[in-house]
Amino acid sequence: MPRMTPGPIPDSHPDFTRIRSQKLSGGTVTIVADASGLSASESRDLEQRLKAAALAMPYVQEARVALTAAKRGPKLIAIGSGKGGVGKSTLSANLAVALARLGHKVGVIDADIYGPSQPTLLGTTEKPMAEDKQLIPVEANGVKLLSVGQLVSAGHALAWRGPMASGALTQLVEGDWKGTDFIIVDLPPGTGDVQLSLIQKSRPAGAVVVSTPQDLSLIDATRAIDLFRKTDVPVLGIIENMAGYQCPHCGESSDPFGSGGAEAAAAQLGVPFLGRLPLSASLREASDAGRPPAAEDGPAGRAFRDLAERLLSALDG
Ligand code: ADP
Repeated sequence: MPRMTPGPIPDSHPDFTRIRSQKLSGGTVTIVADASGLSASESRDLEQRLKAAALAMPYVQEARVALTAAKRGPKLIAIGSGKGGVGKSTLSANLAVALARLGHKVGVIDADIYGPSQPTLLGTTEKPMAEDKQLIPVEANGVKLLSVGQLVSAGHALAWRGPMASGALTQLVEGDWKGTDFIIVDLPPGTGDVQLSLIQKSRPAGAVVVSTPQDLSLIDATRAIDLFRKTDVPVLGIIENMAGYQCPHCGESSDPFGSGGAEAAAAQLGVPFLGRLPLSASLREASDAGRPPAAEDGPAGRAFRDLAERLLSALDG
């Protein structure tokens, strides 16, 4: 709950939860607001909105806004989807590898309690060690990894109730991520309490929503975007997965799930469209074998590098 901060900006103002203090002296108001998780341009917008709201009060002649420094340490990027099976985990693993190949120190938190697949996707069976109860991530394909799948045997996490799941996920978030620039968080699919509490606890700097092109999937994606907006996490964009299929035998292209739906939805929802990935048997085979295509120089590797670059520019805002 926000602290009570009596001052010119009322608690009904949409940015009120970010206000840490507001002091009025003479006709000058000084507002301190928390800009954690906001990009540079969003921080500027927040500053301007707060200033305008304060100056709208007849007794305020001058408004000063100080934004508290963004959180130190790695930037978390949450990868979410409204439902399972759209390729959220595959994209998370490959975006992480692509970011690492662009020269960043990258971690992956596999929070998908319904199907923790990052150890398989990144090709590792190693278990993390703990030091003073803090988990030390394992390394695979140039990225650090902590996964729910490393803590419990396959299928067990699914049976967890909310508080147990949240407790385990906190352990992953509070692992030893020293020296990491970015942490990709592979969220559980859906928009329930586990997702909400993980978002509130980990305060991601931004979020990406993965969708397939069908209408039904897009309705779910919209719900995921709503969840991030409600929790003040900037939506960096939508990625359309499994868009279009090129037959490996005859080379003919088809659109088994339709195409372009996510781009249209992104425009409608006012969020950036980061790009699309085709349905590809070789991508699935390489993923199942723990060889992330982003680690290679082929067309898939280039596609993931492009997505990672767009993600970084969206983050810089
Ligand atoms: P989610 O995390 O959304 O549940 P996954 O990443 O686990 O989805 O993907 C579900 C399945 O679809 C996996 O078998 C994966 O290899 C496959 N898959 C994901 N993206 C593609 C793609 N572009 N082409 C072919 N198969 C894909």
